[in-house]
Amino acid sequence: MTVVGNDAGLLDAADPLAHLRERFHPTPGGTVHLNGGSLGRLPAATAALVDDVVREQWGDGLAEARTLWFDLCERMGDRVAEVALGAGPGEVVVGDCTSVNLYKLAAAALDAAPERRTIITDDDNFPTDQYVLAGVAAERGGALRRLHADPDQGLDLDLLREALDDSVALVSLSLVSCRSGALLDVAEVQRIAHAAGALVLWDLSHAAGAVPVDLAANGADLAVGSTYKHLFAGPGAPAFLYVRRDLHSVLSQPIHGWYGHREQLAMRGDYDPDPTIRRFLTGSPPVLSLMATGAGLDVIAEAGLPALRAKSIALTGYLQELLEPTELRLASPADPARRGAHVTYEHPRAAELVPLLARNGVFVDHSVPNRLRLTPAPLSTRFTDVAEAAGRIREVLGGSSS
Ligand SMILES: *Cc1c(COP(=O)(O)O)cnc(C)c1O
Repeated sequence: MTVVGNDAGLLDAADPLAHLRERFHPTPGGTVHLNGGSLGRLPAATAALVDDVVREQWGDGLAEARTLWFDLCERMGDRVAEVALGAGPGEVVVGDCTSVNLYKLAAAALDAAPERRTIITDDDNFPTDQYVLAGVAAERGGALRRLHADPDQGLDLDLLREALDDSVALVSLSLVSCRSGALLDVAEVQRIAHAAGALVLWDLSHAAGAVPVDLAANGADLAVGSTYKHLFAGPGAPAFLYVRRDLHSVLSQPIHGWYGHREQLAMRGDYDPDPTIRRFLTGSPPVLSLMATGAGLDVIAEAGLPALRAKSIALTGYLQELLEPTELRLASPADPARRGAHVTYEHPRAAELVPLLARNGVFVDHSVPNRLRLTPAPLSTRFTDVAEAAGRIREVLGGSSS
């Protein structure tokens, strides 16, 4: 263990992102948080930023406050696009939750191709995605086809190639599997779907802020995703929605509201959708959460996604080294470059290990069936934290096996 500790110290000393750890609210001494895949850490700047919005903009500036916020969904969308998604200005808005955004875009895609009634996803996709997609298909007399994805290795793209035919309007997949972390190839999936005349709707909830996505460079059609995981926006913060610019005029989402109207404040009785990305909005956004989203984006922008990704690969690779061999079975692709920011292990008593580990100061996520999801957030986790966590996991496993 001494050798390992020294390695970790050297890795920390050489880490170009080490200083960014201070940009997050400190965790209680002696604890290691590997559960940022469910709710990202609190940026140190968030509290003052929200306080300022509440006291100055809302409290003192009541009269102008509402007009300050009218284009906030787009302004924050542009920032998310630039920092995390590799999308252009005017292609992303932030508002509503991921499930609702998924509904809007899946429905829009089906409505734009009335001769095609099938949606394809995989059975490892996050449950809300499967529910929403099945509902959208059923509502339109169509069906959701669920391909079987290996829960550890992710979807085999040959299955997708075979499943596509001219009944398929939409393929909807998570870029990074919430269970295994398995990472898909955006450009390749887009190519396969386009060859069959289908659109692709990505769920980037576990990808945005964790891996470079490059939506524009990869010709991505549509995407949605959470801001409260790897973008640190805080509990309940609204999700983002991306529509490639040339699709704005082709797609029409089904939840018509005043925020999507061409002349929001004209108060006309007839719905006339805005020609821009605004047409995918519906109503007033949660302004406090939306403003808070900026704090995490600033830290990510300072790090830069390529450097963040490089450290993330090094951290999960190191963690993997330190946990071999144990009675934990790797339930993720073995190559860190083939997964997102988390690595998953299976253990028959995973559910009991989660609180045991927490009592020992190591916080991890539980995932079904029998899995521990470990997310060493690259902006706030040191290699020494990973070494400490691995040591305690080994102790807990040793102590609980008898
Ligand atoms: C976290 C997550 C969601 C969350 O959806 P909400 O509607 O915002 O609660 C959706 N999809 C995936 C893949 C997720 O990881």
